[in-house]
Amino acid sequence: MAVPPEVVFSRYFQERFPYIPPVRPEDPDLRPYRGRNDLSGLPPIVQEQLRTIQETFNEALRTEKQGVPEHVDHPPFHVDYVDSSIQNALAFQYGGYSFIAITVPLIYAISDVCKRLSKSATVATLLGVRPSDEEYNELHAVLFYLLTAFVVAHEYTHHVHGHVSMPSAETVFPNEILDTGCNGNMKLQIEEITADGYSIYHVLANFIDGPGRSWLTLLKLDAKQASVQDEVLFALVVVAVGAYLFVRPAPDLNDIYELTHPPQAARMNFLMHEAIGWCRQNRPELEAWMKRRFQNLMSAVAEATLGVSGAHVWEDQTAFFKSEEGAKYISSLSEGIIAYKQSL
Ligand SMILES: [Zn+2]
Repeated sequence: MAVPPEVVFSRYFQERFPYIPPVRPEDPDLRPYRGRNDLSGLPPIVQEQLRTIQETFNEALRTEKQGVPEHVDHPPFHVDYVDSSIQNALAFQYGGYSFIAITVPLIYAISDVCKRLSKSATVATLLGVRPSDEEYNELHAVLFYLLTAFVVAHEYTHHVHGHVSMPSAETVFPNEILDTGCNGNMKLQIEEITADGYSIYHVLANFIDGPGRSWLTLLKLDAKQASVQDEVLFALVVVAVGAYLFVRPAPDLNDIYELTHPPQAARMNFLMHEAIGWCRQNRPELEAWMKRRFQNLMSAVAEATLGVSGAHVWEDQTAFFKSEEGAKYISSLSEGIIAYKQSL
């Protein structure tokens, strides 16, 4: 009988990060990942929400589209929570499964960023929604689901595009959040950009053209014209992903070619390029609509997530990309992405 994915998942981390009993009982457990998190230490309501999310994604991935020409062969998916104090999402293959691991601190960070957005009057006005005064309101629920879906779909891409290989002692899995380190290169950065792009494509398809549309009911937008609903859904996606990137630690631009992930302003630009590509194919009128609003949306997102002074990270990066050195970096990234897509 096949070993259940939960068991294999835990074993992977326990083998990779073996438990070493502390010399003194008070010494901390230094393992970055400690196996599967069964969520039992969390409040019951949070446990229930996290299990629902996990089941939703596991179900969606069980019925993933087969025979996609640009996908590499990969074993069946399993999404689970890994016990860790680090905010991270990981993609790895092990024991006959394609695993997507999410840490609970990342879930909390996503929830926190969505809460900040959901409390911003400017964001609500720009989105055209009127959330209730509840601590965790309807807007929070939609943004939270959307962002979690984006993170899972990003990891999904690392699998189906073959960015993760079968296990060996040296297999390095993508570390999504610890992205300030300088042990990366342009190949990895191109993989990250394509994972973002493929992810946003799936998220838009799901939200605007798929079952994600049902979130409109929660936002009390059922009676609106379909075109207005599309605009709100598109803006929700842009706001959620923009906010997620805003709160990532800002990397040192001096080591730009050695980063594991491109700076967030570059990620957002490439991501929007893919998003607009989706619109052109499916909802052409959304392109001009978004172009008129994008800057306002991003300013509102920056202020809601980082405070009034927070926008400087974004501005610094945008200014850098306009410099000669920055433009050189962007064009080498763009060329790399084109070559990557041709190689699929
Ligand atoms: Zn990634």
